[in-house]
Amino acid sequence: MRITTHLLGFPRIGAKRELKTLLEKHWQGEIDEAGLLQGAKELRQKHWLLQKGAGVALSPVGDFSLYDHVLDAQLLVGAAPPRFGFDPAALTTAQYFQLARGAQDQPPLEMNKWFDTNYHYLVPEWQADTAFRAQPDRLLSQLREAQALGVAAKPMLLGPLTLLWLGKVKGEPFDKLSLLPGLIAAYCQLLSSLRVAGAAWVQIDEPILALDLEPAWLAALRPAYEQLSQDAPKLLLASYFGSVGEHAPLLKTLPVAGLHLDLARAPEQIDAFIDAYPADKVLSAGVIDGRNIWRADLSARLDPLARLAERLGERLWLGPSCSLLHCPFDAAAETSLDAELKNWLAFSVQKLNELKTLKRGLEQGRAAIANELAGSDFARAQRRGSPRIHHPAVARRLAALPADGYRRASPYPVRAARQQAWLKLPPLPVTTIGSFPQTPAIRASRAAFKQGELSADDYRQAMKKEIELAIRRQEALGLDVLVHGEAERNDMVEYFGEQLAGFAFTAGGWVQSYGSRCVKPPLLFGDVSRPGPMTVDWARYAQSLTPKPVKGMLTGPITLLQWSFVRDDLPRSEVCRQIALALNDEVRDLEAAGIRVIQIDEPALREGLPLKRAERDGYLAWAGEAFRLSCQGVDDATQIHTHMCYSTFGDILPAIADLDADVLTVETARSDMALLADLGRFPYRNAIGPGVYDIHSPRVPSADEIRARLQQALRVIPAERLWINPDCGLKTRGWPEAEAALSAMVKVGRELREKLAQSA
Ligand code: GLN
Ligand code: ZN
Repeated sequence: MRITTHLLGFPRIGAKRELKTLLEKHWQGEIDEAGLLQGAKELRQKHWLLQKGAGVALSPVGDFSLYDHVLDAQLLVGAAPPRFGFDPAALTTAQYFQLARGAQDQPPLEMNKWFDTNYHYLVPEWQADTAFRAQPDRLLSQLREAQALGVAAKPMLLGPLTLLWLGKVKGEPFDKLSLLPGLIAAYCQLLSSLRVAGAAWVQIDEPILALDLEPAWLAALRPAYEQLSQDAPKLLLASYFGSVGEHAPLLKTLPVAGLHLDLARAPEQIDAFIDAYPADKVLSAGVIDGRNIWRADLSARLDPLARLAERLGERLWLGPSCSLLHCPFDAAAETSLDAELKNWLAFSVQKLNELKTLKRGLEQGRAAIANELAGSDFARAQRRGSPRIHHPAVARRLAALPADGYRRASPYPVRAARQQAWLKLPPLPVTTIGSFPQTPAIRASRAAFKQGELSADDYRQAMKKEIELAIRRQEALGLDVLVHGEAERNDMVEYFGEQLAGFAFTAGGWVQSYGSRCVKPPLLFGDVSRPGPMTVDWARYAQSLTPKPVKGMLTGPITLLQWSFVRDDLPRSEVCRQIALALNDEVRDLEAAGIRVIQIDEPALREGLPLKRAERDGYLAWAGEAFRLSCQGVDDATQIHTHMCYSTFGDILPAIADLDADVLTVETARSDMALLADLGRFPYRNAIGPGVYDIHSPRVPSADEIRARLQQALRVIPAERLWINPDCGLKTRGWPEAEAALSAMVKVGRELREKLAQSA
């Protein structure tokens, strides 16, 4: 028996973030277009050869992208938005980057999070008259590159239904599905040219199948695939990020040659497929988790796979659950992690080996992979028993907590009065979200400190200077609630992870976030606790400089969880409670140190929302509980803020309200103040600071536009509960523009205050 192994996609950024370097050099004019394209080609080749060397039977082609695979999918069907005025048949590389990054007067395509990942894709723009035409050249030339290397290539396409679904309607409202016939026609052309070019298989990704799809979209599936399969290579229809078991009867009878299932996220769905699985179809078992970094439990995987192999024979394929885009490159490159921890990890390269091992085990029997199984069992047992992971004290503290008694002592109106009694804030208080510019000087100090060229003391002095500068500037600007500016924080997750027990950091565990931007999520491997205060000294120092209130600044439990690779041996809800408890220690210490305004940032609350509606309430319940636990026990007079940004919050407003923060500052300007409409419908009762300007560009907002946004806000938020602030932190800005923007904000605030006083 021969088992086929394949990948749905590979981390295109490269082992050393080569793609990032190429892109940024190109954008800065250091390498020309030919240099960029050549570099990209070499990277693709390296990745294909690596896969081939690791025994992958079918390698994906078309998963590589210079910026984003959803943008590429739009261009394959000639669908660049007409507002750019580009000829889809002759799109240049410069135009490609304009779509992604914008130009002088042309905003780029919007970005949105790719399902429940932290990857951002570029949102297609659909109009009622959007026309499609296949532009297969780029994909065909990549297919030829792979073929020339002797790689067995499997071109992959983002499925037409998913592409359509991900797009946003522009102009007059219309039913997106009305575009499907034209889109399918273009896909048919793509598929037929891939067949002619010698592709035996094409993988078509339809991740929307794992959502709660509207009936009209489900109904469109069969007719679409009946057309697509007419003149096509064999089609492997891939789903991931959840179960598609409820659609098994439909999927099993589609005219495709195979189905890929995510059996890491939803192993139970196999039951819905395996009985009477059609004899003409391949079943690709996505058993290696493409979304996390832990070694697979090979022993546990092998038996169920062997049973599948018995029934399916060579029609069983093996792969990761989804594209490895979401997984770092190579754990072997980690030199700073200790051997024990390293031995628990599997990044992309290690996952290729796991696939190869499982394949061998199925083909030649358990004995043939005895060593590998022993290695996997050993790592597993070590993790299960490791005192680095399990701290009984953490479990005991959690067990002693009440189920959810973490409500503030008094309701919001009582708290607000007690807070105002000492804060004595003017109406429409003005504040910021936390960070001030991370200047080159700050970064240089930190780099020097990390290299050991600057002593801890000198580093602390340098940061204190920055804090003082930030306080003085805020005083001069006339802000009401100040912040210390977060100079000492490299990153809002890393900063806390480095000080909490249970987190570890990689040197090169980068994952693409969008374009050339990568993130390096911490590894949350063990029980979380706080050995000592993390922010108290900085906050206390900042407060000592000014009579104005200084807001303490923490990253919340849900965000710390969501932006890490999380251990897989505990439920996420439980890990989140551990983090919340550790943060609660910090909140109590801040309060005791006289910091009585404390912000707990939760920008990632929304992205943790499960894709399936049925699971959402459960998530929101434990997430909310964790947030409240993190500020449990504070005095009524202590003001708790939270902050969220860059997601749509309209549909989770009840859950946000249930966090019961005294003040919510939230990004609204960047998204056209859309949240205000939702706030008009939902009775949010605590204070809100809707962002009054977008912080993403150096452009300084005019007083007029800030005023217009505030007036808009005043229509749905009563003045006594309205705060004034930017959309988000200012760490990516420079001081001159930050000061100019904040000064406009303060000016408008004063003006509106006077008006309010007059009308009262
Ligand atoms: N306090 C953080 C800052 O201002 C919040 C960042 C965020 O929301 N992503 O930078
Ligand atoms: Zn933010």
